[in-house]
Amino acid sequence: MSSTKQTPVPLSTAMVGTAPIDEETLMLPQMATLTEEQQMLRDALEGAIDRVSPVGRVQELDNAKTFDTALHAALAELGIMGIGIPEEQGGSGGGAVEQVIVLEVLGRKATSMAVFMVVHFMATRILRENGTPEQMAAHLAPLLRGETKASFCLTEASGGTDILSAMKTRARRDGDDWIINGNKMWISGASTSDMLIVLARTGEHRSRGLSMFVVPARAEGVTATEVATMAINGYDTNSLALDEVRVPGDALLGQLDNGFPQVIATLNGERMNAAAVAVGIGRGAVEVTRDYAMERTAFDRPIGQFQSVQHQLSIAGIGIESAWLMVLEAARKDDAGEATDVLSSMAKWSSARAAVHCADVGMEIFAGAGFDSDLPIQRYYRDVRLYSFAPLNQNMALNMIAERWLGFPRSF
Ligand SMILES: Cc1cc2nc3c(=O)[nH]c(=O)nc-3n(C[C@H](O)[C@H](O)[C@H](O)COP(=O)(O)OP(=O)(O)OC[C@H]3O[C@@H](n4cnc5c(N)ncnc54)[C@H](O)[C@@H]3O)c2cc1C
Repeated sequence: MSSTKQTPVPLSTAMVGTAPIDEETLMLPQMATLTEEQQMLRDALEGAIDRVSPVGRVQELDNAKTFDTALHAALAELGIMGIGIPEEQGGSGGGAVEQVIVLEVLGRKATSMAVFMVVHFMATRILRENGTPEQMAAHLAPLLRGETKASFCLTEASGGTDILSAMKTRARRDGDDWIINGNKMWISGASTSDMLIVLARTGEHRSRGLSMFVVPARAEGVTATEVATMAINGYDTNSLALDEVRVPGDALLGQLDNGFPQVIATLNGERMNAAAVAVGIGRGAVEVTRDYAMERTAFDRPIGQFQSVQHQLSIAGIGIESAWLMVLEAARKDDAGEATDVLSSMAKWSSARAAVHCADVGMEIFAGAGFDSDLPIQRYYRDVRLYSFAPLNQNMALNMIAERWLGFPRSF
């Protein structure tokens, strides 16, 4: 049965007291209409995750802070790594809509892998849009086959939002080579990736003095150190030191000194993709909480019979479904080649806010059980924090909407 046709079990017929909350969470019907092909993609992905990494395994790996290599291989097998890249370039076809569908499912079922895929889609898009044929053959093709992994290295310790002021990493010419020095912070996957896409200063102009480089993750002078973090436990987060790292001239990706505009061009996509993960987290939180409310009893009835519990979850669900409609519309516009800067900022803000609310309501309804680290609600509650401030924090999303939609002067 197609997942969109599922109907929640009415409370009166639910297995009150015996409903399984760990392996068989009921999927709620989604409000947006997808094409048949898009539904098939979603169903195939959900089936693969349920087979390879059911929720109990996802939780085990999260508690053990371990990357899910089996799920990564299954995604590669399904062709997920190539979504967004045309088949004639070695990809699987599809575009922004297919990417957000994948990321919503992963956000809901295996959030750390969703974050991995946000980085992966960013890296493949940057390589496709800026790489030479030789760079695409060397770096993009193995990424699309799932044989390698990439990290995107922009943020530095002194600031992610105002990165143009914070950026201290520099690349200087040495004959035909480049020598890179600097430090990056909060870099996803840097300990386990094969290649790093590094932004470094190559000129003095504030925004037109940065360039992108492809750096082998195990090049001499590269040191990735895992940071102990409170969330996204199945995907390493790192500080990254680049000490006299020598790369050949053809490591320059795109145009010299034009790296920042090139990255900005992909950020609307990253914003939509982050929003889709947030929707998945929020929806996942609503689903497991609904199941729990069916099962848990107080005052001789399931807590899901209390109207305030029903209303809290209904309001949380409205927020997440509204945000999802916005994410999908932004992705459709992106696929149609239309500008999405305002809509993707709206989608990102709405989905992050709605998802944080869903996880919060979930923790409230789980109460003491919310602290059980074998149950997923606490993971949603922790993981949802990432996309409230990354890749664009909520205030910056509002700044962009105020400036580009309302027409106010820039506030920062
Ligand atoms: C788990 C994790 C994974 C990450 N992965 C990567 C990665 O792979 N690659 C990478 O490059 N980076 C990565 N990051 C970094 C992430 O993108 C940054 O944390 C983010 O951009 C915010 O930067 P910051 O933390 O330095 O916050 P700051 O820039 O210090 O901002 C702090 C707060 O100040 C406020 N603020 C700042 N400017 C304004 C303004 N103009 N108006 C109003 N309010 C403002 C906002 O509330 C903001 O949240 C990751 C971070 C984490 C935690």
